[in-house]
Amino acid sequence: MSDIHIRTEGHAGRITLTRPKALNALSYDMCLAIEAAVDRWRDDPNVALIVLDADGDRAFCAGGDIAEMYATGTTGDYAYGRQFWRDEYRLNAKLDEYPKPIVSFLHGFVMGGGVGLGGHCSHRIVCESTQLSMPEVGIGFVPDVGGTYLLARAPGRLGEYLGMTAAHMSAGDAIHAGFADTFVPQDAWDALKTALIETGDVAHITAAARPAPAAPLAALQPQIDRLFAGEGLSDIVNMLRQDDSDFAATALKALGRNAPLSLAVTLEMIHRLRGSTGLTIRKALELEYRVSHRIMEHGDFLEGIRAAIIDKDRSPKWRHALDKVPAVEVSKMLMPLGKDTLDFRERAMNIGFIGLGNMGAPMAANLAAAGHAVKGFDVAGTTAEGVTQVATAAEAATGADVVITMLPNGEILRSVAADIISHMSKGAVLLDCSTVDVGSARAVAELASAADVGVLDAPVSGGIGGAAGGTLTFMVGGSPEAFATAKPLFDIMGQKAVHCGASGSGQAAKICNNMILGVTMIATCEAFALADKLGLSREAMFDVVSTSSGYSWSMNAYCPAPGVGPQSPADNGYLPGFAADLMLKDLRLSQQAAEAADADTPLGQAATELYRTFVEDEDGSGKDFSAMLPRLEKRGRG
Ligand code: NAD
Repeated sequence: MSDIHIRTEGHAGRITLTRPKALNALSYDMCLAIEAAVDRWRDDPNVALIVLDADGDRAFCAGGDIAEMYATGTTGDYAYGRQFWRDEYRLNAKLDEYPKPIVSFLHGFVMGGGVGLGGHCSHRIVCESTQLSMPEVGIGFVPDVGGTYLLARAPGRLGEYLGMTAAHMSAGDAIHAGFADTFVPQDAWDALKTALIETGDVAHITAAARPAPAAPLAALQPQIDRLFAGEGLSDIVNMLRQDDSDFAATALKALGRNAPLSLAVTLEMIHRLRGSTGLTIRKALELEYRVSHRIMEHGDFLEGIRAAIIDKDRSPKWRHALDKVPAVEVSKMLMPLGKDTLDFRERAMNIGFIGLGNMGAPMAANLAAAGHAVKGFDVAGTTAEGVTQVATAAEAATGADVVITMLPNGEILRSVAADIISHMSKGAVLLDCSTVDVGSARAVAELASAADVGVLDAPVSGGIGGAAGGTLTFMVGGSPEAFATAKPLFDIMGQKAVHCGASGSGQAAKICNNMILGVTMIATCEAFALADKLGLSREAMFDVVSTSSGYSWSMNAYCPAPGVGPQSPADNGYLPGFAADLMLKDLRLSQQAAEAADADTPLGQAATELYRTFVEDEDGSGKDFSAMLPRLEKRGRG
């Protein structure tokens, strides 16, 4: 994207806003790109800190890009604006709560959305040109993007003053008010950035810091505290009218320009937040979102944008006069939103899901229940709750951010991939969760990469119980970028996702795991059959082994003996569960890989042969793989 430059350099993740002609106004796409980058870098050991800065002389960021909000809002469509705000506020919270240092370089204008971006970082640097403000009341809105969190914590009544007059803060003021941390002269910024990038160590900021310049607002603090202490908007307006200082006259003039309803709501928000115990940015954002959700329909926001930005007549027709805002209007703006409450959930994605069998159907249903738009396709015509059924795999893939496949084998996967990849958008991700051979996973990865489609092989462990309960473990191969895109989906479908390395490594991890599972299940069943013949009760056998050195998942979590241990397919007549046929498939994949890699796997080989006999020559097909126990218990040594 040309409006933003995201990359890693040295030990730093770097985000530079590159839209100086628009004073680096933050668009929705920029917002999403920043979120994806910080998500990606959170667990990246090569990124020690993030440097956030902007091109051009005039502004770090002069606010959010509201043109599209106006265009949609004036047609009565409020959904775009609400989604933008929800996603932007989630980013604001992420920046505040980020586990690694984020160093923001705040030059020139830093307003509204720019404060949301640069003002919640762990290390906020200002310079001679910094002019920071929360000017939303001027366009009929209220301070948002976590601005009320900063305003509520500013000294004395400074928060009320700044939020209601939209006054600018110089570098010294911003530090005094708690909107910034450190003053570093701008001619020292390049050297500081270089040091941060080369070392990943924020100690360089202390070395580059210079004493903060004077803060004119600090000198005005006694007046501000006296004049802005009123309970409601009219109290403050009256105080300002009665005071004959130039400061009061200027402040009153500023209030006169701004939307009265916005002023009254801003004041109420700051009071509520300051009074709340355990104030967090999330509390502030949740309160702000109550207003954002309603402001286009019931506030002065659209009129404010019209007057300031569209018609530029600067004569907005506000709904109320300065000292005649009904208290009930303020309460209505701040009423809880019920089901629309800001919940910081990840952005809803468009998902295509192909293969809605025992595993795929519950996985797709969980994604739909979490709010994602899921289109599903299965040749057998199956579907899942909340999923929109479509007629072809290509249709499921078209327009999807992520396409998930959950198919029986590598051959089917290859043919589905060949069919859908040309229908997928560039940059979308093909996420295969089936268990297939490493060769098929790599072949699909090549096909996808050639079409600029991201790809992950992410087989699962946890069975149908894990698929239904959203507790699967994913073993993932593919690029870190594709992994970051899919991470929120792994979090819904599973309890853990391990990024194992490049394409194919998820499948490699899966078949190694399942080779162990096949072998330990056989060993557990053998031991039970032997214990039977030695006259040991199965209960005693379980009690000992499950807490001794013979314990394993097969014994402790999936005990093959009916009526013993936790509930398992053994208690259900050995209905799968995890079918012996699938275990045979996975063991064969492990032996195929072992052969290709020249690895000696004698027990894996023996387990494969035993499951082959059970499934192909005996009655094992369609039974759970733990039905190895009734098979063995009947037999003698001969
Ligand atoms: P399943 O047979 O129940 O589901 C596979 C689905 O794919 C079926 O509904 C089938 O109709 C559909 N399908 C086949 N060809 C298709 C095509 N060309 N287009 C669209 N759909 C197609 O199998 P499952 O148990 O859900 O397993 C799926 C994958 O997950 C397998 O690779 C399996 O090894 C793996 N797995 C299963 C378990 C388990 O416990 N069942 C555990 C871990 C991994």
